[in-house]
Amino acid sequence: MQSADLIIIGGGLIGLATAYYASQTQQRIFLLEKEADIAQHQSKQNWSMLELGARFAPASHAAYHLRYGIRLLRDFCAREKLAIVDRSLLYVAADDSDLPSLHEIQRRAIANGISAEWLASVRTIEPHSNGIAGLLLPHCGIFDPNAVARRLALRFEMNGGRILTNQRVVGLQERDEGVIVQTKTETWITQRVINCAGLYADRLAEKMGATFTETIVPFRGEQFTLKPYASQLCHNIILPVADLVLPFNGIGLTRTQDGTVFVGTNAVMAGGREQHRKGQISFRTSAENLLSPAVRKLTRRHFQTALWEQRRSFSRELFALTLQRLVPAISKHDLQRAPAGTQGFAVRDDGTFVNDFVLAETPRSFHVLSVANGGATAALSIGRMIADPNRQ
Ligand SMILES: Cc1cc2nc3c(=O)[nH]c(=O)nc-3n(C[C@H](O)[C@H](O)[C@H](O)COP(=O)(O)OP(=O)(O)OC[C@H]3O[C@@H](n4cnc5c(N)ncnc54)[C@H](O)[C@@H]3O)c2cc1C
Repeated sequence: MQSADLIIIGGGLIGLATAYYASQTQQRIFLLEKEADIAQHQSKQNWSMLELGARFAPASHAAYHLRYGIRLLRDFCAREKLAIVDRSLLYVAADDSDLPSLHEIQRRAIANGISAEWLASVRTIEPHSNGIAGLLLPHCGIFDPNAVARRLALRFEMNGGRILTNQRVVGLQERDEGVIVQTKTETWITQRVINCAGLYADRLAEKMGATFTETIVPFRGEQFTLKPYASQLCHNIILPVADLVLPFNGIGLTRTQDGTVFVGTNAVMAGGREQHRKGQISFRTSAENLLSPAVRKLTRRHFQTALWEQRRSFSRELFALTLQRLVPAISKHDLQRAPAGTQGFAVRDDGTFVNDFVLAETPRSFHVLSVANGGATAALSIGRMIADPNRQ
C-alpha cells in the first residue's frame, strides 16, 4: 500500500487548480487521473469564455467563485504569459418578450459587481445582429483552458506534486487512520481526498458516504462552428436571453482566440456521463435517469423545452432558425458540426435546477459535485478554497 498526505482525483481544471494551490503549502500530494492525459473532458470541450456570472443569483457560490476566479485567472495568465483576449459579451433581446429577463440579468449583473450597459441598438457592437435591445458586459474575455491546465500541472509538479495518469479510482473508504483509495492497479492510504472527478464526482462521493441531496444529471451540449467565410457575422460573444430558471446559456455565438466562432449549445439530456457523442449510451446512466424521481419531475416541468432541444438536436435547420433570432444572416449552410461536451447539472428532489455550484464534504474529504457553466473560469477560486487545509 502506498501512502500520501493528499490525493486529488481528476485532472481537469478544478483538480489541477486544487493541486497547484495545495502544493504551495503541503507535501506528498498525488493527483490521480483515469485517462492517459490530463484535461480530456469538460476542461477540453468548452468555449473558453470568462464566465462573468451575470445570470447567477448574487448570494450564490457560483457568483462568488466566478468573480474571484476571474481575478485569479487573469493574474495567473499574466504571470505565466498566457493570453486572455478581451471580448465584450452582448446579451441580445430578439423581441419584446425577452425584455423582462434582460432587465433581470442587468439587475443581477449589477448586484454581482459586473458592468452591464443597456443598449438601445446592438449594431454598434455587433453589426450583423438585429436585436431590439442589448446588455453589454464589456469586461469579458477568451482564455485557453488547455494552456492553463498544462501550466497548472507543470507548476504542481515543479512544487513536488505527482500526476499519475491511467489511474481510475474505483474504491474509496474513510477510516479512522485515513482514507483508502483504490485504483485498478494500486491501493493508497491518505490523510485527505479531494474529489474533482467531474462527471463522475457524485458517484465517488457516494462511495465515501458524503451527504448531498441533489441528483447530478449529465447534459450534452451540442455545438457547431461557423464556416470560416461566415465568421465575420460575430465579432465578440453574443448570447440570447435564455430562461433564467434553466442553467443553460441558450444558443449563442462566441469568437474564440483564433477567430473560430463557436455556436451553441443545444442542451439535451445525455445517455452517459462522458459519452460526448450522440449515439454513445451508457446503460447505467440511462437507467439512473429513467428511475430517478428528480429527473422524472424535471422532465415533466420542462417537457416543452426538452422536446424542442431534442428536435433541434436532429435538425440543423432548427438550429439555424434559433440563431437567426440573434443574427438573421446565418443559414444552416454556414454551420459545421463541432464536438459536443457533456456537463453535469444538479437537480433538486422536486425537479428544479439548482443553478449554483454544488459541493460536499466529510471529515477527510471534499467533493466538487457540479460546477456547470463557469467551472473553467471559477477553477482557481474553487481550487484555492478547497486546497486550504485550515479552511473553516
Ligand atoms: C460545451 C461546454 C462549454 C463550456 N464553456 C465554458 C466556458 O466558456 N467557460 C467556463 O468557464 N466554463 C465552461 N464550461 C464548463 C467547464 O468546462 C467545466 O465546468 C470545467 O471544465 C469543469 O472542470 P472539472 O475539472 O470539474 O471537470 P473535467 O474537466 O471533466 O475533469 C474531471 C476529470 O476527472 C477525471 N475522472 C473522472 N472520474 C475519475 C476516476 N474515477 N478516477 C480518476 N479520474 C477520474 C476525468 O477523466 C477528468 O479528467 C463548458 C462546458 C461545456 C461542456
